[in-house]
Amino acid sequence: MCIFCKIANKEIPAKIVLEDDQVIAFHDLNPQAPTHVLIIPKRHIAGIGQAEPGDEAVLGRLLLAARRVAEQAGIAESGFRIVVNHGANAGQTVFHIHVHVLGGRPMAWPPG
Ligand code: AMP
Ligand code: ZN
Repeated sequence: MCIFCKIANKEIPAKIVLEDDQVIAFHDLNPQAPTHVLIIPKRHIAGIGQAEPGDEAVLGRLLLAARRVAEQAGIAESGFRIVVNHGANAGQTVFHIHVHVLGGRPMAWPPG
């Protein structure tokens, strides 16, 4: 079982900030901004490249959960960034799809 499936199953600890029947959000272990939360589907999907048409609803849930996380963290007004890394060039290291929510400081564009 992958590491994020274990977090979803509560087999390894995480600082959970939001949870519903399909998604769970928790603080990134190595935060890159004052707010850095990851949102995952509870059901394993390896990455955006492996998502299937039947996954549309849960993918939408991830984005709406990102908004809720930002509101909860108090960064909805100041702004935040939503990131999904896919593959080597993007630096994906965990192969269970996850949405990063980053905020609490200004962010550069383009990303490094
Ligand atoms: P990515 O490069 O998009 O695959 O990012 C994976 C992210 O997961 C990184 O930001 C890691 O810091 C984070 N991460 C890895 N393991 C854990 C964990 N056990 N709990 C929380 N965050 C984690
Ligand atoms: Zn998984």
